[in-house]
Order: sequence, then structure tokens, then C-alpha cells
Amino acid sequence: MSKTYRNFIAGEWRDAISGETFENRNPANWNEVIGLFPKSGTADVEMAVKAAREGFEGWRLMPAPERGAILKRVGDLMTERKEEIAKNMTREMGKVLAETMGDIQEGIDTAYYAATEGRRMFGHTVPSELPNKFNMSIRVPIGVAGIITPWNFPMAIPTWKIFPALICGNSIVFKPASDTPLTATTFIEIMLEAGIPPKVLNLVHGSGSSVGSPIVNHPDVNLISFTGSSAVGKNLSKEASDTLKRVSLELGGKNAQIVMDDADLDLALEGVLWGAFGTTGQRCTATSRLILHDKVYDKFMDMLVAATKKLRLGDGLKSGVDVGPMVNEGQIETVQKYIKIGQEEGAKLVAGGKPYKEGDCANGWFHEPTILGDVTPEMRVAKEEIFGPVLSVLRINSFEEAIKVLNNTKYGLSSSIYTRDVNQAFKAIRDIEAGITYINGPTIGAEAHMPFGGIKETGNGHREGGWEVYEFYTETKAVFIDYSGKLQRAQIDNY
Ligand code: NAP
Ligand code: MG
Repeated sequence: MSKTYRNFIAGEWRDAISGETFENRNPANWNEVIGLFPKSGTADVEMAVKAAREGFEGWRLMPAPERGAILKRVGDLMTERKEEIAKNMTREMGKVLAETMGDIQEGIDTAYYAATEGRRMFGHTVPSELPNKFNMSIRVPIGVAGIITPWNFPMAIPTWKIFPALICGNSIVFKPASDTPLTATTFIEIMLEAGIPPKVLNLVHGSGSSVGSPIVNHPDVNLISFTGSSAVGKNLSKEASDTLKRVSLELGGKNAQIVMDDADLDLALEGVLWGAFGTTGQRCTATSRLILHDKVYDKFMDMLVAATKKLRLGDGLKSGVDVGPMVNEGQIETVQKYIKIGQEEGAKLVAGGKPYKEGDCANGWFHEPTILGDVTPEMRVAKEEIFGPVLSVLRINSFEEAIKVLNNTKYGLSSSIYTRDVNQAFKAIRDIEAGITYINGPTIGAEAHMPFGGIKETGNGHREGGWEVYEFYTETKAVFIDYSGKLQRAQIDNY
């Protein structure tokens, strides 16, 4: 019998009002059911939003450093339970244990950063243009935060949103991805144990259309923070405009690593392998394109193909495994579709190409790490997000051409260049159109205290992580204190 899990709404663990559930299976072995989770709908969301509104009224009045002390305990509890949560995360979404451990560590780092932000949350004091008057700006909480997240970083991404929202005094309605409901459930348990008041946290499981969309449309939800695909993000942004919500979108990517002819090729090889095939290519910052200088193209391709063929596929819980399964069957289909499109467009399949079913992998959603060579900038496999273990390799002859090719996509999340030429490195920092640029490192590697996000169709101008995210979760209030004892008219009495 599989265990049945519940929503957490209005201070209680409850089944969906419909009474229905959905299954969560292990992508490395689809015969293993991890649990049944509530299939919620509009009525569950309604109850959650109402509770969150009530929770907000008390939470906003707690001093921010006190809220910070609770978040510190959340970080401590996550640290204690790190390995157990990581193992369950690998079981429910597939990536290897070292990476799920890293995912939780990012959450812990975010908890400790957010905890101390409770002692900053700066406003400004500025001179008034009138005598005997004091001007300042303060930061105030906004209200109910709707949080909608994907499955590829089941802990890190929810923490990037929920911790800043909480420290700033907002309450939460959280809809996690349907592929990773267990990690989300554990996360809520930990926050409750640490002392976040029950009504401040509401967890509603279910699909994007039946739970996500009602949250976005709800007039009493004040802001939405969403990470996911650009297609869903665009639609969500339209829906949210009806109630003029504040919306933060972190969306797709088509990230590239440039390797110039003067690069350290061994270092660049390690980078591209980790960037392209870590998390089985299912990262928003995954290296999806390799832009390779003609002078090193043949040599580097030989090195890359040989190293790619050595990567070991398998259950991410087993030691020695480099690449876990894809999250579900739909992802395998998308990858297969793009490999076919690439070949029809004239790209050359130089490694991988097929789902992988050998030995222990027979009952999982495994796919071979795949390389497409001779890709040209206008091909779809050079411009569209694939979100799987597929690397498109493009040939360039100059630095200028490399930057032009890199920028030739509607996305703008992460980017990388390997070169020993410092002038070239600084020009790349200036000219690459992306929210993130790495010099001599792969396209992946976010740190909790650095701003994270992208430009173009990757987002709508907000950043997560670092110091900037706290702006998103607060409103600025301008405050004027007149101690002159008389009416002072700005712009009139002083001119
Ligand atoms: P997705 O299909 O857009 O789903 C993301 C979340 O939105 C899930 O919780 C999903 O629920 C929900 N959702 C789906 N339809 C919705 C709707 N109509 N209204 C409201 N919510 C809805 O994305 P995904 O396939 O899970 O994740 C992969 C994508 O996320 C990739 O494009 C990747 O690049 C992007 N991503 C971006 C970042 C970043 O920071 N830029 C980070 C990670 C991932 P269900 O799970 O129930 O469908
Ligand atoms: Mg699963």
C-alpha cells in the first residue's frame, strides 16, 4: 500500500475536497510508487487563500529579526535532515544524490541568508525640502504570496521564494510541481516544526490548471512568484494582469558555453560535461549549446565524444552513477523529438541519441547523453530549449562571431566563455545578452547570495537570490513627519 499524503491548509493536514489523489513514481524505476497526493482544485485554493490572509495579520506584526530566528531554525532542521531529504528527492525526481544534497544545501544557505536579512531590510532617510520635517521610506509586507515551482530543484527553488517572502512578513500559498510533491511536503513539515505559525503556510498539491491557475487568478493573492517554462509564464502573466498582481517570472533558457582557441581544453571539457549532462540536462541553466572555435573544433569534439561515452547512467542513489533518469515519459518524448528535428535540419548525431534500457535501467526514463555536431545558428536545436541531455555544437571562427551566435536565441539566462585572454573575457561580460555570465566555468553554479535570473524571454526583470529578491517581497512606503506645528505646502510655501 502506498502512503497517502495531504495538503496543509488552514493549520491542518487535509485531503483534497474532491477526495481524489494522484501518484508520484520513481523515474528510475516506475514500478515504485512513492506516494499518493491530493488532487486539489479551486475550492482547496479558496480555503488556503483565506487562511493565508488570516495568518498574514499576525505574521506581519512579528518583528522581522524574530521571524529571522525562526528561519535560522528552519536552516538547522534542514541541515539535520539533509541526507534523508536528498535520498527521497532522488527517488522522486531522479537526479544523482550529490546533486540532491547540493539542492538542499542551497536551501540551507538561503535560510541563513534570509534569517539575517530580518536585521537589515533597509529603508532610506532623506532630507525634506521643508523645515522641521522628516522624510523616510520604509519597507512593508505585501500580503499573500502565491508560489508556483518546477520539479528540477524541488527544494532550492521553493526556498529562494518562500524564505524571502516570509522574512519580509508575507504569508504563503504554495503549489509545488506535480512531479515533486514529497520534497514540498517535507519542506512544510520542517517549517512548521521550526515555528512558522500554521496559517502562514499553506500547501496545495495538484495540477497547474486546477491549482496553479486559481491561485494566479485569486483577487486576494497579492503576488505571484513563478519558475517554469516560458509558455506557462507568459500565460500566467496575462491571467495575473486582471488583478494587477506583482509577478516574478523565472523561465526557460538556451545557455551556451563558448570555447575559444586559446582555452584550457581539459578545463573546458570538464565544464561542458557537467553543464550539459548534470541533472540529465534538466536545469534552466544547463549547457544546451557548445560554441567551439574552428581551430580546436576537431580536437575538442574527439575529447568530448570520448568522455560523454564514459558517463554512467543509472539510479541516482547508486554510487558511481553520473547521470540519472529524466523526470517523466513526456521529457523523453521531447528529447527524442528534438534529436529527430536536429538530424532533419542537417545536424550530425555524434553521441547517444536513444532512450537507455540496459540492465537496471530497464524500468526507468533513462536517455543517453547526446551530442549533435555541425549545428548552425538558425536550426531549431540551436535556438529552442530542449531541457534534456542534448548538446548542440556550433562552429565559429572569431570572438565576434561567437558572441553573435550565443545571442541568437530568445532566451537570456546563463552563459560561459573559456579563454585565457583577459580582454576577450571582459568584452564577453559586456556583450553577452544574459543574466549570468561565467568566465572559465560552466553555465551552472548559482550561489545563494548572488542574484539569479535572466533577460529576454527568460524573465520579466526580477531576480531571485542575493539582496535583490527582498525588494520583490516588500512594498515601499514613503513617510513624512511634520514637526513644525503648522501646515507646510510642498512646492508652494518654499518657493
Ligand atoms: P512548467 O510546465 O511551466 O511548470 C512549472 C510549474 O507551473 C509547475 O508547478 C506546474 O504544475 C505549474 N503550472 C503548469 N501550468 C500552469 C498554469 N496554467 N497555471 C499555473 N501554474 C501552472 O515547467 P516544468 O516543465 O515543470 O519545468 C521546466 C521549465 O522550467 C523549463 O522551461 C526550465 O527552463 C524552467 N526553469 C526555469 C528556471 C529559472 O530559474 N529560470 C529554473 C528551473 C526551471 P504541474 O507540475 O502540476 O504541471
Ligand atoms: Mg516522481
